Amino acid sequence: MKKLPKAKSAPKSNPKEPKLVTSKHPIVLAYDLGGTKVAVGVVDSTGKILAFHREAAFIKQGKKATLEQLIRLGKEMIAKYPKISAVGIASAGPLDPVKGELLDPTNFSGPDGHWGKVPLAAILAKGLKKKVILENDAAAAILAEVWKGLKSNTKNAMILTLGTGLGTAMVANGELVRGGRFQHTEGGHIIIKAGDESAPCGCGQIGCAEAYLSGRSFAYRGRKRLGNEIIDAPQIAARAREGDAAAIALFDEYAEMLSIALHNFVVLFYPEVVVFTGSFAAAHDLFLKKAEKKLAKLLERRNLVMNLQPKLVVSKLENQAGLLGGAYVALRAIGKL
Ligand SMILES: [Zn+2]
Repeated sequence: MKKLPKAKSAPKSNPKEPKLVTSKHPIVLAYDLGGTKVAVGVVDSTGKILAFHREAAFIKQGKKATLEQLIRLGKEMIAKYPKISAVGIASAGPLDPVKGELLDPTNFSGPDGHWGKVPLAAILAKGLKKKVILENDAAAAILAEVWKGLKSNTKNAMILTLGTGLGTAMVANGELVRGGRFQHTEGGHIIIKAGDESAPCGCGQIGCAEAYLSGRSFAYRGRKRLGNEIIDAPQIAARAREGDAAAIALFDEYAEMLSIALHNFVVLFYPEVVVFTGSFAAAHDLFLKKAEKKLAKLLERRNLVMNLQPKLVVSKLENQAGLLGGAYVALRAIGKL
């Protein structure tokens, strides 16, 4: 075997320690905590991401392991960026953004069962010794879209995050829409087909929008129809793109259920743009145009007097909307935006 030539001189900088990206603007620490992954980053007040790290969340190992993971990740970033002035965490819900508490998140459960109520902001504030703001991940994502993502300058935009669950959030007239008691609106759990035993939802109900439209639910439905060899939604998408009729029929059903959910959101919130994000949005070529047509049909009469048909677009923020939104709420909380 040939020996590798020896380096003549040591490299000038250690490639394992890249130069720290800095900013002259105020900076905050942001998290995006989902059912399977956690992202953490340092973001400045112009929306520039200075540092970023993503790894598998320890949700399956339980609540204690996940909380320890969040504190460890935060401490690592703060050690590199001691000027961090606040922390924003975008998390899957339900949660109480005012009290900073998780309210038994639908898709968080480990060996110790469901999480129940967790004062996440207080726990992180103690661990990191910073002010911590908690926000629903979909709410954070739509705030980020209106701040940095969408090309149109609309003040009326809704987001659908299609991942483990279905997250929804709306900015109307420039303000985040909250329900009574400051609760986040949980559009994923509106029931769109009551009594449909084929659509169990993580929340314990059946027939919720999430039970049809999340990537995980879509894969579950795919397994029932196409067979147990189906592992995930991308596999069904690949089959549909190859022309498999059963896989295409699943996407037709998906577009139908999506148009019903969208119709209900339009008559409640009147978005001008609906932006899709999350891992399942990658399959948008297989359902978005179809859903758009079906939605136009459902809104046909209303559209005669006022055009309610929203533009349906895919997020340009890749998977960083939650993180940017976490930064946005932290910057707002300390008066830097
Ligand atoms: Zn539900």
